[in-house]
Amino acid sequence: MGGKCDIELIDKKGKRVDGRTPEQLRDVKIEVGVLHGADGSCYLEWGGNKVMAGVYGPREAVPRRVQNARRAIVQCKYNMAAFSVDERKRPGPDRRSREISKVISEALEAVVLTEMFPRASIDVNIEILQAEAGTRCAGLTAAAVAMADAGIPMRDIPVACAAGKAGGHVVMDLGKLEDNFGEADLPIAIAPRTGEILLMQMDGHLTPEEFERAFQLAFDGCIKVGELQKKALMEKYAKAVPEGNGNEAAKEE
Ligand code: ADP
Repeated sequence: MGGKCDIELIDKKGKRVDGRTPEQLRDVKIEVGVLHGADGSCYLEWGGNKVMAGVYGPREAVPRRVQNARRAIVQCKYNMAAFSVDERKRPGPDRRSREISKVISEALEAVVLTEMFPRASIDVNIEILQAEAGTRCAGLTAAAVAMADAGIPMRDIPVACAAGKAGGHVVMDLGKLEDNFGEADLPIAIAPRTGEILLMQMDGHLTPEEFERAFQLAFDGCIKVGELQKKALMEKYAKAVPEGNGNEAAKEE
């Protein structure tokens, strides 16, 4: 962020380096229930980001010292695979992945009905298989779908999206070059039903007016991606429910 490059991040016609308009999201694809070993899972592609999320639990929290006698905790581990970036990333946790794990855990925990499961842990694993800017938003969005797939009782399905500033313009959902050489990045996560903000971080500089515009764009992006989350869940679960209201057999008797 804030680097210098010779590339025009937005041209005179208002088109971005990848051909998008300032208000346009990258393509997002969501698949539910892709892992057999997890209680819930999701594979998500967001532009060039490829993310796998697996959820386990609620199950007894270990070690016992992390247990809360009144409620469940959400423990998220965000990890970038060594092959997820152009130059091999050193494997294992670093400062950045610990920070992202913490903020995603807190965002997800805010919507879970944690009082239902004292002493339990809901374990969320997010693996970034390919990274192209915006992985915390993609990871949180995939994790929320995996939690719904695992049947975790939640008040809402969290969803995330970023906006920022690149080439002097406020734009939706920064791509890789915009993230590297742009002026600001503002990832947010919301609970779409209430509009509650579950995560908000900012990197770079924005004026108050630019901040408001970027926030609105990120919020609109969350709503759009939230619709895709619901569609993906419906696609899996609508197939599992018989056509009609399921009472046909009872009526025939
Ligand atoms: P986010 O992925 O949520 O946008 P950052 O702003 O920290 O988080 O990272 C932006 C992008 O920088 C990532 O999506 C990834 O493409 C790249 N990146 C992050 N960490 C590394 C790393 N250790 N090595 C190479 N590229 C990285």
